[in-house]
Amino acid sequence: MSTKNPTDWTIAEARKSLEAGETSALDLARAFLDRAASVEPAVHALLERTTDRALSDARAADARRAKGERGPLLGIPVVLKDIFATRGIPTTCGSRILEGFVPPYDADAVERLSRAGAVLVGKSNLDEFAMGSSTENSAFGPTANPWDTGRVAGGSSGGSAAAVAAGECLASLGTDTGGSIRLPASYCGVCGMKPTYGRVSRYGVIAYASSLDQVGPFARTVADLADVLGVIAGHDPRDSTSVPAPVPDYAAALDGRVAGLRIGVPREYFVPGMAPEVEAAVREAIERLRSLGATIVEVGLPHTKYAVATYYLVAPAEASSNLARYDGVRFGLRKAAADANLLDMYRETRDAGFGAEVKRRILLGTYALSAGYYDAFYLKAQKARTLIRDDFAKAFAECDVLATPVAPTVAFGLGEKTEDPLAMYLSDVLTISVNLAGLPALALPCGFDGAGLPIGLQLIAPAFREEAALRVGDAFQRATDWHERRPPAPGAAKGGAR
Ligand code: GLN
Repeated sequence: MSTKNPTDWTIAEARKSLEAGETSALDLARAFLDRAASVEPAVHALLERTTDRALSDARAADARRAKGERGPLLGIPVVLKDIFATRGIPTTCGSRILEGFVPPYDADAVERLSRAGAVLVGKSNLDEFAMGSSTENSAFGPTANPWDTGRVAGGSSGGSAAAVAAGECLASLGTDTGGSIRLPASYCGVCGMKPTYGRVSRYGVIAYASSLDQVGPFARTVADLADVLGVIAGHDPRDSTSVPAPVPDYAAALDGRVAGLRIGVPREYFVPGMAPEVEAAVREAIERLRSLGATIVEVGLPHTKYAVATYYLVAPAEASSNLARYDGVRFGLRKAAADANLLDMYRETRDAGFGAEVKRRILLGTYALSAGYYDAFYLKAQKARTLIRDDFAKAFAECDVLATPVAPTVAFGLGEKTEDPLAMYLSDVLTISVNLAGLPALALPCGFDGAGLPIGLQLIAPAFREEAALRVGDAFQRATDWHERRPPAPGAAKGGAR
């Protein structure tokens, strides 16, 4: 049996111990619940700890195992971003406007995890309606980075990333509209994947920008990500954008081989202002892939410079339409003075229920879609989006997978960018093109800076070729040990790797 504490395990290690009968799902659930109780005051990754549900899920998983059932996630503790509808469990999306909302059904990804026997430990914190890059836009307070609690966890799925990093679960789900899985994975030193648009159902996932949103997993290793993705991927007729394509055996694709693969390095992704330690670590990771037998080719993605502007037209436009449904009538909060008419009720509810960033996005989006501005802004953004997508198609004629940094810097300080929305938006400069093009991309740790903060490598693959990025990431992890580092007990020492 491993000498490590179970909360430091990977899914693969936990599964081995479960299969050997050395531990039970119930033991694991208790260990992770205890860990959550001890780190939550410092980290605040979770909005809700589902203790009773975790214990009953764990007993059910143990009973299924006793009957001979096996499976990659049977008895594995997981956390869900609080954007996934969970039957009987409050779902806030980080917003006051959904306070008190308890969905009557589970999201498709949640159903699939339950069928696989995963154990739900909690619902995780996020930027309100997934709008943000730091989880500081949550109406319920920010999440701290487990590596240094004075810094952000990244966003918008910051709670899901921090929960894995801090050992509160072995895997979690997030959503990624412009980088919300990859950025927090990078800042928190864990792995995260945004699958191809259409690969995982969004049924029961609260919509932000529907042409960009995608569900994906966080875990400590790429091999673990492959296990979770294999469970949540697949066609769902309840999501009209879900693609009826067969799901490959992702775990089986991890053969450790990169020899003969062409890895493209886009020259536009080493942007001015990038932290030198980030660039150095990513370039070193690329050299490591070369030493493992991959061919490195330089490629161009010339329209990258338009990506942030394009995204901040498309995403707010879609958000302004998606968020129209929060009117005080159907869900959550309702505010109205005694003599209020219908319009007053809408106005008062939305004024009290939405935070400043969400209001900013609704204003931007409504403006971009209004008569006279539609052609100048929204239509132009759609044209730029096509150019960005074409860039990738051309690059993938020359290579199999792209390797880039996830973000220009490591995790920044709490409060450092909250007064400067544009600086915050620029955190996503290297992730949002992937969403505009609908591609799959993976983030994994590839080094640490001098202060002991994690640095992330991004691997981007052609549409529906998740296994190509997973194979490269897994081969990298077989040859390196960045993913084996764990943060110091959060709340104790500041920064530094153990
Ligand atoms: N930071 C980006 C935004 O605020 C991306 C968020 C996301 O991927 N959900 O829109």
